[in-house]
Amino acid sequence: MSRSRKPEWLKMRPPSGQRFTHIKQSLRDRDLNTVCEEANCPNMGECWSGGANAPPDAEAASAAEEGRDGPGTATFMLMGDRCSRGCNFCDVETGGMDPLDPEEPDNVADAVADIGLDYVVLTSVDRDDLPDQGAGHFAETVRAIKRRNADVMVEALIPDFQGDSSLVGKVIDAGPDVLAHNVETVERLQWPVRDRRAGYEQSLSVLRQIATESDAYAKTSIMLGVGEYDHEVYQTLADLRSVGVDIVTLGQYLQPSRSHLEVSEYIHPDAFDTWQRVAEEELDFLYCASGPMVRSSYRAGELFVEALER
Ligand code: SF4
Ligand code: SF4
Repeated sequence: MSRSRKPEWLKMRPPSGQRFTHIKQSLRDRDLNTVCEEANCPNMGECWSGGANAPPDAEAASAAEEGRDGPGTATFMLMGDRCSRGCNFCDVETGGMDPLDPEEPDNVADAVADIGLDYVVLTSVDRDDLPDQGAGHFAETVRAIKRRNADVMVEALIPDFQGDSSLVGKVIDAGPDVLAHNVETVERLQWPVRDRRAGYEQSLSVLRQIATESDAYAKTSIMLGVGEYDHEVYQTLADLRSVGVDIVTLGQYLQPSRSHLEVSEYIHPDAFDTWQRVAEEELDFLYCASGPMVRSSYRAGELFVEALER
């Protein structure tokens, strides 16, 4: 598949509807950032609809009719929209870090209650500039959401905290239901894909700690189409499973701008299906979400609940 033209399967309908507008307004009122919007994620229509506490909406009603309803998911990005690192695949601005907003944990908890989400993904930029790299802020946000409604499931997608296990431990102690850290790519391509401060072994050690020291499910994500070979993807999946990772997602890398890493290949949807079978049937992951438009938080609530019920 040529890398110069986007194939048909990557074209998606833009999100719309009453519920979509309500969520957007709720976020604006509280000055909150979501990855969904920042990345203009094409899955917003699917992820944001549904949810047992969600106000009714034509989109959600038709999703329910078609059996597509489930826990609505949105991904909040904590601690600003500027990162202390600069990964070559990522569109987030580097440097010029904002001070932490001490009200952010409660504002996120308020927005989750207002929107009626059942499943929340929290992620952040990397904050290597802070004494605890933002681990305490992450933990406080998990706790604020659970204090409001203990039934809301929280997935925390954390940075590597430079491999400091005490900082990973701080987030573990807050009791998220799923604790994720993204390995992003195979070992050989960690750099140039990720910032030089990241690394394969460091990420595996974060995931091993999550798997062995917490009650949370351990989750990670891999982008395809950055130049990896199939045997390397298989090896990465096997390494992840060997450290105890339960959930893995695979999606197509898309170049955010010409100054970012080029797409090496558009992977066919059938190949994504094959990886899903390998991960679930051969390597025994709890579940694997795999598809061209899958992102680490793609329909995270729905798929997690479905997997637990299987
Ligand atoms: Fe983007 Fe995360 Fe890399 Fe920062 S650490 S540049 S937010 S991928
Ligand atoms: Fe948001 Fe993640 Fe869904 Fe995209 S895939 S809309 S970022 S929850």
